[in-house]
Amino acid sequence: MARVVVVGAGIAGLSAAIHAVSSGHHVVLLEKKTKIGGRGTSQNIDGFSLHYGPHLVDKSGPFFRMCKKLSRVKPDVKSIRLDKIEVTGHGPIRPVGNIKQAALNKRAIRKRSRTNPYYQALIFLSNWGIEDNEYRVNSVVKSRLCVSNEGWIGLIGRLGAALDEVGVLIETRCEVVTIDGHQVHLKDGRNFSCDAVILACGPNGAKQILQPINGDLAEQKFSQLETSVASCVELGLDSRPMAGKHCLIDLEQNAAIIDYAAIQPKLNDTGSHISAIMVSEQSSNSSERLEELLNQHIAGWSKHIITDLRQSRIAVGYSNRINFDAFAKHHILLAGAWVQSDYALSDAAADTGKRAAKGIAGIL
Ligand SMILES: Cc1cc2nc3c(=O)[nH]c(=O)nc-3n(C[C@H](O)[C@H](O)[C@H](O)COP(=O)(O)OP(=O)(O)OC[C@H]3O[C@@H](n4cnc5c(N)ncnc54)[C@H](O)[C@@H]3O)c2cc1C
Repeated sequence: MARVVVVGAGIAGLSAAIHAVSSGHHVVLLEKKTKIGGRGTSQNIDGFSLHYGPHLVDKSGPFFRMCKKLSRVKPDVKSIRLDKIEVTGHGPIRPVGNIKQAALNKRAIRKRSRTNPYYQALIFLSNWGIEDNEYRVNSVVKSRLCVSNEGWIGLIGRLGAALDEVGVLIETRCEVVTIDGHQVHLKDGRNFSCDAVILACGPNGAKQILQPINGDLAEQKFSQLETSVASCVELGLDSRPMAGKHCLIDLEQNAAIIDYAAIQPKLNDTGSHISAIMVSEQSSNSSERLEELLNQHIAGWSKHIITDLRQSRIAVGYSNRINFDAFAKHHILLAGAWVQSDYALSDAAADTGKRAAKGIAGIL
C-alpha cells in the first residue's frame, strides 16, 4: 500500500482517487478551491443547473460509466437527437420528411466526408472542434451523447459521495505549491509525506509545480501542448426560442447553441435552458460575437432571462497532449483532459485518472 497525494479534485483527480483507493492505496485528495469538480461542475441558480459552458455526457464513455458504477440510483440521461440538430444554412442532420436528403447526409457521415457540413457539425458537437475523436463522433451518431437531469454537479456529487464512503480525505482550500522529494508543500505552510503524487490540477498548475523539479523536461513537454479556449453563456429563459430544437451549430462561427430543457424535459417543462459556446483563438474575445450569434439565431432571448452565467476564454480542450507517465521518474504521474488518452474532454479526464492510479505500482 502506497501513500498517494492527488492534487486537484476535478474529474481527473476524483477518478484518480477512486481508482487508487480501489487498488488498495492510502489516498489524500487536495483541492485549492472551496468545492470539488473543477471545470466539470455546475451551480444551481433560480432552479437552473448552470455549467461552465455546455456539458454533454457520453453515456458509453469512462466518466459516465464510473458515475453509474458508483451510484445506487442510475443517473437519468436523455440523448441529443440528430433530427433535432440543425446546421445553420444547411438544415437538420437527419431531416424528417426528406428521405433523400436524410440518406445523403447519412452516407456522408458514414464515409467521414470532411468537406460535408453535417459531418463537420458532428465533429464540432462531439469535441468542440478541438481534435477529431472518432469514438465521440460515433457517440453522437448512435444517440449516446446526453444531458443529465441533475446537472454535472449531481454526477460529481456521486463521485464525492463514493470517496467519502471509503474514507478518502478530500481537503478543499489546499493549494499545492511545490513537491520536494516525497514531501508535498501547501501554500498554507502544511506538508504531506507520500510515496507518489498524481497531478490532476490542470496544465498550468502542473507546469508550475513541475518546473522546479525538472525544468528542461517541463519546458519540452508543456511547450508542445496546445489549448483551445471558448466563450460560453448559460441562460435560464421563460420562453422557448429554439422551438423544440435540441441544438443549432454555426460552422462559420465555430459555435453551437443548445437547449438542455428540450433534450431533458425534467430540467424545465415551460421555459428553456440555453447553453451556447463559441470556440476561438487564444487572443480573441468572442463574448460579444456570442451575443450577436444568439440575436441572429434565437431573436428575443434577452427579454426572457430568468438567470444567466457567462464565461470568457475558458480552456476547453487540448491537442498534442502529454503522456501520463512523462514525470514518472520523479514519482509523479499526470491526469487530466490535457493528458494523452483515446478519449476526449471529461472522458479523457476520467480515463487518465484511472491510468495514473493504475500506474502507481510501477513507480514505487
Ligand atoms: C466550455 C466547456 C465545455 C465543455 N464541454 C464538455 C462536454 O460537452 N462534454 C464533456 O465531456 N466535457 C466537456 N468539457 C470538458 C470538461 O469539463 C473537462 O475536460 C474536465 O472537467 C476537466 O477535468 P480535469 O480534472 O482534467 O481538470 P479541471 O476541471 O480543470 O480540474 C483541476 C482541478 O485542480 C485544482 N487545482 C489547480 N491547481 C491546484 C493546486 N496547485 N493545488 C490544488 N488544486 C489545484 C483546480 O481548482 C481544479 O478543481 C467542457 C469544458 C469546458 C470548459
